[in-house]
Amino acid sequence: MNAALIQLLSKTAHSREELIRLLSAEPGNETDIILQKGLEVKAAHPGRKVYLRGLIELSNRCAKNCYYCGIRGGNRKVERYTLSDREVLNAAGFAWHEGFGSLVIQTGERKSKAFSLHIERMLKAIHQATNNELTITLSCGEQSAETYRRWREAGAHRYLLRIETTNRELFYQIHPRNRNHDFDIRLQSLDLLRQEGYQVGTGVMIGLPGQTLADLADDLLFFKSQDIDMVGMGPYIEHVDTPMYPLRTKLWPAAERFQRGLLMIALLRLQMPWINIAASTALETLDPLGRQKGILAGANVVMPNLTPVVDRKKYQLYDNKPNLDKDASLSTVTLNKVISAIGETINLHQAGDSLHFLNRTRK
Ligand code: SAM
Ligand code: SF4
Repeated sequence: MNAALIQLLSKTAHSREELIRLLSAEPGNETDIILQKGLEVKAAHPGRKVYLRGLIELSNRCAKNCYYCGIRGGNRKVERYTLSDREVLNAAGFAWHEGFGSLVIQTGERKSKAFSLHIERMLKAIHQATNNELTITLSCGEQSAETYRRWREAGAHRYLLRIETTNRELFYQIHPRNRNHDFDIRLQSLDLLRQEGYQVGTGVMIGLPGQTLADLADDLLFFKSQDIDMVGMGPYIEHVDTPMYPLRTKLWPAAERFQRGLLMIALLRLQMPWINIAASTALETLDPLGRQKGILAGANVVMPNLTPVVDRKKYQLYDNKPNLDKDASLSTVTLNKVISAIGETINLHQAGDSLHFLNRTRK
């Protein structure tokens, strides 16, 4: 049995049926073999190294209403905030001094001119304050080509826009069906980002109500067909004040969502050995060692949260999000201990570009 599994894992690309077979691995020995293979492939490609991205949750104001998300515009219980310029620059300065090399700026989605200009201004201010030594990933939703261009010109290098699920029908079950939540526009946005010269990242949630292993296999094949540079994906976790909360009884148990999250990382590493893969916060929510386990399955990026502690509670995408009260100044000394304990090294003072992107653009 295991011989057949090992043989299957020796392939560098898998069919949909093979991916479904691998995703249905039994917990225990079978799963361990797959996760171990993810680590092996990572060690042979980007190496047993981890990049840090300081995460700044710049604003929880959002014009959208995704049914799964705690900060969706329709949730009246959320106290809305936007970080001041000083708070953003302090967080960026911290990342710079600590040698993180890179930032992620994440927000709810707004398309106003004022919002676009605000992000553009912050990009320029961060670069000026940090001697242009930080690379910046944006995760601010669907925008026009012009906005993407302006942000790119202001110094954004990468963009993370999760497709959330590649099953179109499921997409419309977890979003309102209207122009503001349109599967085709989300797909087109990924193309626009590519055209504007970003390193393009996407991802999905794992364990959505009604999602099947075939859907997850399709998600993996989608990343490959889109020639994506980086992926951030993680388990779906319910939030009490969302329209999807009543469906929680239909979910895979949390432990299963977590295991499938790890399997997805390992299997993606096999299909796309050179891309950047993040160990998501959602993994850590379901298991205190979730990030480390994600890294040991093939992930090579972690995103320590640098949002001021007072505002973190207001950026609750799902219940029990971790580190809500931990001091933002999570130093590299602490991180180093955690990462070196699992046999990995932190790559300090480096841009951390996806090697897949560098190979793609060198062609
Ligand atoms: N507003 C931007 C967007 O949607 O692309 C960026 C911020 S949004 C909060 C970032 C990601 O959070 C989403 O792409 C989604 O996958 C994830 N997310 C939201 N609610 C979640 C939940 N309940 N469980 C797991 N992930 C969730
Ligand atoms: Fe807004 Fe993003 Fe949450 Fe959707 S996932 S409601 S766009 S913050």
